[in-house]
Order: sequence, then C-alpha cells, then structure tokens
Amino acid sequence: MRRRNIKNADEKIQVFDEVLITNPEDYYGKIASIFPKQQKIYLEIGMGKGNFIIEQARTHPDINFIGLEKYASVILQALVKANELKLPNLRLINGDATNLEKYFKKDEIDMIYLNFSDPWPKARHAKRRLTSPTFLKIYENITKSPTTIEFKTDNRGLFEYSVLTFNELKYKFLDLSFNLHEHAKENNLTVITTEYEDRFSQMGNPIYFIKVEK
Ligand code: SAH
Repeated sequence: MRRRNIKNADEKIQVFDEVLITNPEDYYGKIASIFPKQQKIYLEIGMGKGNFIIEQARTHPDINFIGLEKYASVILQALVKANELKLPNLRLINGDATNLEKYFKKDEIDMIYLNFSDPWPKARHAKRRLTSPTFLKIYENITKSPTTIEFKTDNRGLFEYSVLTFNELKYKFLDLSFNLHEHAKENNLTVITTEYEDRFSQMGNPIYFIKVEK
C-alpha cells in the first residue's frame, strides 16, 4: 500500500482510545471484555484504511469485529472514520500479525478475513505472505475450531500460492471464485468491498475469493 508518512502518527492515533486497543497483550484471554455485547468475534488482518471492517460492523451488529493494521499512518485513517460512527461492535488494533498469539488465546476468534494482503512475489519472501504455513498455524492457535478464513485478492500469484498452501495444510474449500463480483451480480449478492478491491475492480481486474476451514 502506498503510505503517506504522517508525522507523529503513533501519537496521533492515541486520541482515538474509544475505538483503538493500544495494549492488546493486556487483554490476552479476555478479549471479549472489550465489547459491550458477548457475541462472535471476526478479525480482519491487514485492514488498511478500514472500509471493509467498518461496513461489516455496521451491517452486522450481532457480531463483534476487530481490525488489525501494522502501520499507524494507515490505521489513523480507519480510526477517524470509526470514531465518527461509534459502533459498539468495532475495535481496532495497531499491531503486527506475527504477534497475534500474544493478543488472543485459542478459541477467542471466530473467523479471519484476509483482504488484498501484500503479495511478496519473490520466493525468498514467501514466509511473509499472510497465507504462508507459518501464519496459518498462528491463526489456528487463536481461533475456534474449525479455523475459518475468508481471503480476497486480485493477485493471481498470491491466489495460486494460497490455494496450494491451504490444500497442503489440509484445509477444506467451502467456496472459491475466480471472479467474485461477476458471481455476486449473477446471484444478486452484495459484496462488502475494501479500498484495494474498489480500485482493482475499477481497473477491470477480477477479484479472487476463497473461503476455507480446518
Ligand atoms: N485490506 C486492505 C489493505 C490491503 S494492503 C484493502 O483491501 O484495502 C495490505 C495491508 O496489510 C497494509 O495496510 C499493510 O500495512 C497490512 N499488513 C501487512 N502485513 C501486516 C502484518 N504482518 N500485520 C498487520 N498488518 C499487516
């Protein structure tokens, strides 16, 4: 993602303390307590500017949503929007996916969304892909069984890599589309989109979609 380097973003995000969880490690094993209602928790990893998770939270008040984003300058934009809406079922974390096991205990998360994750095209960087076996094992350690993941990308290389990795790790494919938006149109379904998704589909790129469980 092209990142504007916002000055003092780390400090600026702190004012949004109603939406932002600044110390997720402190809630290890009791993440449910950050929400007023006890209901399922869905987590988006690498949420960027937040359109997807905010819209999910608006449309599904019966589910709690957490958005995780590594960069303060990026999460800042999601925080500004989320703060205006004051949704009781949405909280955001400025953190790295490599630390997820420090934030959440096994069974705390009900579903994981990965949207337009960085493709890391070079083979020597494959471990950094959010669908690499290393990350999938991390997700399995924080989710309820079956571990359920929804994944969207326009990147053919990352899509193929992810299909192979899910298969290798014995995930079951619940859904797979080579053109999510066409499929949705034909079946009159609404797709909640991300910033990247809007941009890439406007350019005419098909959006690949996978839903798996293990
Ligand atoms: N989901 C958004 C953004 C996609 S870009 C959209 O579809 O529009 C990928 C995002 O993942 C970037 O914002 C990047 O900072 C974030 N990201 C990449 N690696 C991450 C990690 N290890 N932990 C948390 N966020 C990460």
